[in-house]
Amino acid sequence: MGTFDPIKGFGVTFATMFKKVVTEEYPEVKKIPAPRFHGRHQLNRHPDGLEKCVGCELCAWACPADAIFVEGGDNTDEARYSPGERYGKDYQINYLRCIGCGLCIEACPTRALTMTNEYETADDNRQDLIYTKEDLLAPLLPGMEAPPHPMRLGADEQDYYVRGPELARGRGVPEGETVESGQEEARR
Ligand code: SF4
Ligand code: SF4
Repeated sequence: MGTFDPIKGFGVTFATMFKKVVTEEYPEVKKIPAPRFHGRHQLNRHPDGLEKCVGCELCAWACPADAIFVEGGDNTDEARYSPGERYGKDYQINYLRCIGCGLCIEACPTRALTMTNEYETADDNRQDLIYTKEDLLAPLLPGMEAPPHPMRLGADEQDYYVRGPELARGRGVPEGETVESGQEEARR
């Protein structure tokens, strides 16, 4: 060690005192992620509360980490959970496996599955990191009714998909705001 090396070392410490602090005060101060951040998933609803998931399993097949389990079920006139023939009877995402790639939401044909900005998915046991359908389902917004119930917005699923934005406006979702974003807001 040279004679002036300790002085150089203290020089680095002294200069650092005047630099901008980069420490995050988490969890006291929560960082707001970028708008398209890949956080916890959400299973969305139609404006009348019926579920958008049709239990097709395309998300599970698209997942490179094998993190999604889906079991479809048949809707009946007595118990209807989504417009059309099928709904997602059982739905699970294993966050021990999920790598947040977003391929599942790209694969979903009905926009039933999207990702929120919520990033606090850590836990101290494995079981609680397997999120069930109840954990993932979007909350009911004003004007929505908890399934099962009959189709309130049309005679068949075409009415839901073709006239979706119009139906959302009729249910009081503000212009420029999607049903998904409103549901995400309601979770916070
Ligand atoms: S984000 Fe990627 S890893 Fe996670 S469940 Fe979706 S497809 Fe699988
Ligand atoms: S979330 Fe989408 S892709 Fe997955 S089972 Fe439901 S409808 Fe199909």
